[in-house]
Amino acid sequence: MQTRLLINGQLVAGEGPAHSVLNPALGSVLVDINEASEAQVDAAVRAADHAFDGWSQTAPKDRAALLLKLADLIDAHAGELARLESDNCGKPYPAALNDELPAIADVFRFFAGASRCLGGSAAGEYLAGHTSMVRRDPLGVVASIAPWNYPLMMLAWKIAPALAAGNTVVLKPSEQTPLTALRLGELAAELFPAGVLNILFGKGQSVGMPLVTHPKVRMVSLTGSIATGSQIITGTADSVKRLHMELGGKAPVIIFDDADIDAAVEGIRTFGFYNAGQDCTAACRIYAQAGIYDTFVNKLGEAVASLRHGLQDDPDTELGPLISAAHRDRVAALVERAVAQPHIRLVTGGKAVAGGGFFFEPTVLADAQQDDEIVRREVFGPVVSVTRFEDEAQALAWANDSDYGLASSLWTADVGRAHRVSARLQYGCTWVNTHFMLVSEMPHGGQKLSGYGKDMSMYGLEDYTCVRHVMFRH
Ligand code: NAD
Repeated sequence: MQTRLLINGQLVAGEGPAHSVLNPALGSVLVDINEASEAQVDAAVRAADHAFDGWSQTAPKDRAALLLKLADLIDAHAGELARLESDNCGKPYPAALNDELPAIADVFRFFAGASRCLGGSAAGEYLAGHTSMVRRDPLGVVASIAPWNYPLMMLAWKIAPALAAGNTVVLKPSEQTPLTALRLGELAAELFPAGVLNILFGKGQSVGMPLVTHPKVRMVSLTGSIATGSQIITGTADSVKRLHMELGGKAPVIIFDDADIDAAVEGIRTFGFYNAGQDCTAACRIYAQAGIYDTFVNKLGEAVASLRHGLQDDPDTELGPLISAAHRDRVAALVERAVAQPHIRLVTGGKAVAGGGFFFEPTVLADAQQDDEIVRREVFGPVVSVTRFEDEAQALAWANDSDYGLASSLWTADVGRAHRVSARLQYGCTWVNTHFMLVSEMPHGGQKLSGYGKDMSMYGLEDYTCVRHVMFRH
C-alpha cells in the first residue's frame, strides 16, 4: 500500500506521528501512516511556490495534455483505486468503481478542455488613446483540504481546476481516508514537474492549520464542515488569503400533492441514502404536502426498510457503514433525541447495528416539525425526516428557513409551480423531479453557512484565477 507523501516530486515517508487508517465496515486497522512534520509542510509549500513560475507559464494545451494523461491513468487503475476507496470508506465496491471512478476521470478531462477556453472579456478602448484588456491569471500556491466522504472525487474537484488554471497545489486529504490520494500522488509523480502537485497526510490541527496559514499559500480551498470552515476563515484573516468554502448541507425536498409519488419515494430511497447519507446534498429534509402525506410516509417507510446494508463486496449491499465509531455515535445521539420528542414517529430504523463495523440502520422519522433539531441540523448519515405542509407558501418558507444553502429539490407535475418555486429557493442548486445529479459542466456550491465558491464548471475554473486589467497607451 502506498503510504508516502508527495513533496517536490519525491515520494517520502511522513516524519510526524503515526495515525491508524481504518476499514469502517469491519472497524479494523488497514494501515498506520506517519503524518507530515511541520518541516515537510513547509517544504511542500516552498516546492509548490518554486514550481509556480514554470507551471503558470506552461501553455494551456500542455497543462491540458498532462491532465488528460492523469485521467487516462485513473481509468487504467480504476479497479485498484476503487478497491482502496471502498476499503477505506466502507462503501460498496461496485459503487466506487462504477459511479465514482468514471466521474472522477471526467472531472480531469473537463478541466483539461476548460483550461484552453479560459480568457478575459474582449479588449476595448474605454479611454481615448488607450486599449484595455482583461486577463484571468492563476494565483500561486493553492492549499486544498478534502473531506472523507468521497475522498478521490473531492480531490479531483479541487486539484483539477486549480492545476488547469496554472496554480500549483498542496493537497491534504482527510486523515481518515488518505489512501486514494496517496496512490494518486504516486501516479502523478511521474507526470507533473516537481512541486506542481504535492500531497500530504495528517490531521487538521497539526498539518492542515500550518498548511493553510503558510505565508506562501495564496488561496485555501476547503470541502468540509462549517466548524472547520470557520477555523480556516479566522486563521487566515490576518493574511487575507483567497478562500473557497464548500461546507455542509441540509437539503430540503418538497413533494407536492401532484408529484409522481412512486418516483419521489424511489428518488429518496436512492439519494437520501447513497453513501449511507454521508453526502452534503443528501435528500434528507423532506416536506410532503397534506394530501399525499400519509401515503407517502407509508411508501417511503417500506422502501427504506428494504435497503440492505453490508460489506463492500457483498453483491446485495446497497449501504455501507458510517466513517467512524464517533460519527456513528453522533448520528445515533441525534436520532435518539429526535425519537424522544413525543410528536416524532419512528417509521423504520433508528439504531446502530451491533458488530465490529460502524453501521447504522436506514431511518425514517415522520411528523417532524420545522424547529426540531433533526430538521435543522446536518446529520450526515442514513436518516431522513418528513414534515407535513399545507400549501406552496408554507413549503417554500420552511425550505428556505435554514442556515444551509447547498442543494434542494422539488417534486411536482406543474411546470409553472416548478419554475416559480425553484426561482425562490435559496440554494446553490435546485433539482426538479430528481435529486443529486451532478455533471462536470455545471457549478456546485452553496450559499449561507454552506459556503461560497463553485466546484466544477467554468465558474469553478474562474474561482482559481484572479481578474486583472492590463492597459496599453497607444
Ligand atoms: P471536517 O471539516 O472535519 O474535515 C475536512 C478536512 O478539513 C479534513 O481534511 C480535516 O483534516 C481538515 N481540517 C480540520 N480542521 C482543520 C483546520 N483547523 N485547518 C485545516 N484543515 C482542517 O469535515 P469532514 O468530517 O471530513 O467532512 C464532512 C463535512 O464535509 C460535512 O459537513 C459535509 O457537509 C461537508 N462536505 C461538503 C461538501 C460540499 O460540496 N459542500 C462535500 C462533501 C462534504
